[in-house]
Order: sequence, then C-alpha cells, then structure tokens
Amino acid sequence: MPPHLNLMPESSRIPFTLAAPVGRERMYVEEALAAGALTGDGKFTGLCEKWLERSLNAPRAILTPSCTAALEMAALLLDLKPGDEVIMPSFTYVSTANAFVLRGAVPVFVDVRADTLNIDETKIGAAITPRTRAIVAVHYAGEPCAMDAIMELAEDTRLSVIEDAAQGLLSDYRDRSVGTIARFGCFSFHGTKNTTCGHGGALVVNRPEDFARADVIRDRGTDRKKFLEGGVQKYSWVDVGSSYYMSELSSAYLLAQLEQSRAVAAKRKNICRAYRRALEPLEAAGHIRLPGAEPCGSGNGHIFYLLTRSADVRHKLLAHLSGLGVDAAFHYTPLHMTPAGERFARAAGPLPVTEQISQTILRLPVFATMDGSQLKRVVDAVLGFYA
Ligand SMILES: *Cc1c(COP(=O)(O)O)cnc(C)c1O
Repeated sequence: MPPHLNLMPESSRIPFTLAAPVGRERMYVEEALAAGALTGDGKFTGLCEKWLERSLNAPRAILTPSCTAALEMAALLLDLKPGDEVIMPSFTYVSTANAFVLRGAVPVFVDVRADTLNIDETKIGAAITPRTRAIVAVHYAGEPCAMDAIMELAEDTRLSVIEDAAQGLLSDYRDRSVGTIARFGCFSFHGTKNTTCGHGGALVVNRPEDFARADVIRDRGTDRKKFLEGGVQKYSWVDVGSSYYMSELSSAYLLAQLEQSRAVAAKRKNICRAYRRALEPLEAAGHIRLPGAEPCGSGNGHIFYLLTRSADVRHKLLAHLSGLGVDAAFHYTPLHMTPAGERFARAAGPLPVTEQISQTILRLPVFATMDGSQLKRVVDAVLGFYA
C-alpha cells in the first residue's frame, strides 16, 4: 500500500463505487426469508422479470446468476460450432469473450470509436469472414452503440447480434431500451453496476422463436417449465443446458433496487453532467479529453471517465487523487493483449484506439449516494493536479 493512503482516515475517503440499499431491500429480503422458498423462479424472480419486461418494453426477460451467465446462455442459444467467429471489441470485460470461447468459437476483435469507446461500426464489415456467426455490441459506460448501422449490417449478412448491456440498464437508443434491439440483451446486476444484488444478471430474449429453448437451457436442459405449465406429463432431459437461476434472496434484494433504478440513473447522470461542466476547461486547454456521446442515445450515468494525454500522466493523476482520498480507477487490459486472448482470439486488424485509450482512461467516482461536497472534492482534486 502506498504510504500516502495512511494519511487519510478511511471514513473520509471517497470510494470509486458504493453499493448501498436504496429502498425496500430489507423488507423484501425479510419477506423472502419468511416465505422460506429460496430457490429460483419464485415470487420475487417473477416480479423482477415483469419489471424488466414492462420497463424496458422487452418481450421476455430471464433473471440469471450474472451477466456472464446471460452471455453464456446467448452463446448456447446461437448453437455455435467450434471455429465459428464472433466479432466484438477488445476493449471490454473478459466475460464478453469467454462466453463464446466456451463454445469453441473464436472472438475476432474490432477497434472502438475514440468518441464513445464502443465498437467502431464502420470497421465491422471488413472483419466478417465465411465463419462469422455473430456480432457483440458492448454498450460501454451505458452509452449505446450505433445500433442502426450494426443491425443493418447484420441483416445484410445474416448475422445474429447480442447486446452486452451489462452497463446499460435504462439507457435508450432512439426510442428503445438498450438490450431490446438485437436478438439477445445481457444485463448485469453485479455490485459494481448501477443496480445490483451483489451478483446477478438478466437475459432479454427479443425473438419469440427463442423463448422455449431459452427456458430449457436455463433449466439444466430439461422441459420442466412445460411440465409445470401442464404441457407434458413429466419432465426430462431434452437439450443442453445448465442451472441459470437467481436465488430468491437475490431477487428480493434486486426488486427493491429495480424499483429505485430510474432515480439512481438520474442521480448518476447529474453527477456525470456536473463532472463534465467542471472539467470542460481542462479539455479546452488540451489537458484531457472527455466522453463523446452517440447523438441518438441517452446514457444512464454508469461511468464518468476522462482520457489523459499519456499513461504516465494517468499514473501521476491516479496517485495525486489517491493522496487526496479519492479512489479513481482504470480498465481494461485489451483482451487481445491478455494471455487467454492471445490463445483463444484474434484481432481483425490493428487496434490503435483500443490500445491508446486503455493506457489513458481514468474513471472518477460515481455512486448514487454521492453528495455535493464529495463531488466538489473530486473536481478540486483533478483541477488541482492540472493547476
Ligand atoms: C460487468 C460486465 C460483465 C460481467 O457481468 P457479471 O454480472 O459480473 O457477470 C460483462 N460485460 C461487461 C461489459 C461488463 O461491464
């Protein structure tokens, strides 16, 4: 631990992220405990799925143990064969790629746009080969990808599109919720996300022809759901599958979070707007670059980042902030530069934007309970560094 961390009492540090109860979490968890039925697909799981379907205008939402699991379900539903290729950004979390590698498919990395850090839709076409089966659109920081262009390209080339909407709950693209535009949308309720139950996720299934098989894959490859609905006399093993349920305890907590999620997103967006206003002079002076946005998109305040001029400046700025009790963060190691990425995936071509931003991105603290004085401390710390 660097010595300056000891100068600041723990209580006055500003955490990078904070997952706190925001509504009826305790009440709903008590209710689930009292009911004594904690396995998945109970009352609270159903209420969360209904909430997602209604709020996102999604045909079908299925709670999963994580976004990783939702991505795995999407990969299973695509029936990928070894050697099939899936186009995605290298600037993303490992789960985006792992889900497809588990099926023997090969992630093919395309560079991201410098303004939104989302997959560069103009570079996807050149990455398509006869083995390409799907495109994964990762909505980085909750900012939507250029979905019109991606969906049009996918239709022309008969590819499936999966939205990795892990960070995208309640972001819109034109009039539609992120995660409901492509064939599948995968959401995360991990502790680092806007709305959380610790570990959790959801698969949004946007085509009715995928509903029945999604139920089977979720339920260990059995037709138990059909049996419970009276469609068959007994249930049996009918397909591949796994156990992709969320426990009722997690669902109970999650429902309370979902109920407050619009308020939380509004709060986070206000924090991001305030950061932007305060830091624009630094951008004008050429010290940093601030996020751009997809013109027809609305984000959800998931991440506020700035881009420094070099890796060295970022390193110094992080240390400066830490010394003042502000926990900032960076990510991702581009997947094509990781040991597993080198082994299981390939880059479609050079990825200069990905490599540049992964060296210079710095994320500032954003959490729903952040107050004005905390915000001011972060802003002053950044401004102070460049003064
Ligand atoms: C958080 C995240 C995931 C993984 O979500 P889990 O719920 O932790 O499995 C996947 N993709 C992206 C882009 C993420 O940010």
